[in-house]
Amino acid sequence: MGTYLARFTPVPDTCPFCGVRETLAHVYLECARLQPLFQLLTNLLLCFWLHFSPHLFIYALPIRGLTKSRDLLVNLLLALAKMVIYKTRERRLADGVSCDCGAVFRSSVRSRIQAEFLWAASTNSLDAFEERWALSEVLCSVSLSGSLCLTL
Ligand SMILES: [Zn+2]
Repeated sequence: MGTYLARFTPVPDTCPFCGVRETLAHVYLECARLQPLFQLLTNLLLCFWLHFSPHLFIYALPIRGLTKSRDLLVNLLLALAKMVIYKTRERRLADGVSCDCGAVFRSSVRSRIQAEFLWAASTNSLDAFEERWALSEVLCSVSLSGSLCLTL
């Protein structure tokens, strides 16, 4: 992650949120502002029988045959979380806005699911949608009448 993220994440001297000396580890793992996001990820991953850790967050899950759909979904959530950390930090640097990155993550997952659902409904592929997004109904479910229920 180090070199890849370093290329896209210019690091000033101090964290724009808490003012401590900023490193990549601080940006993506250690800043106190990330706690609501990590708490949410911890709860979500528990629903998939996984333990959230900095190692898992950085390296994501190896994709295994038996748990492939879960692994792919969890890795997508971890990627979205990193994107949210990046974007909220950019916004903070640009205009000083502060926000709850857990709430931003939650709403970006929800809008992603809604967009995927609309696409699946219009292309008659709700089965594939359910397989991908409604796993164990942790994030959402699809009713018998074919409407989306968000549970995240
Ligand atoms: Zn900080």
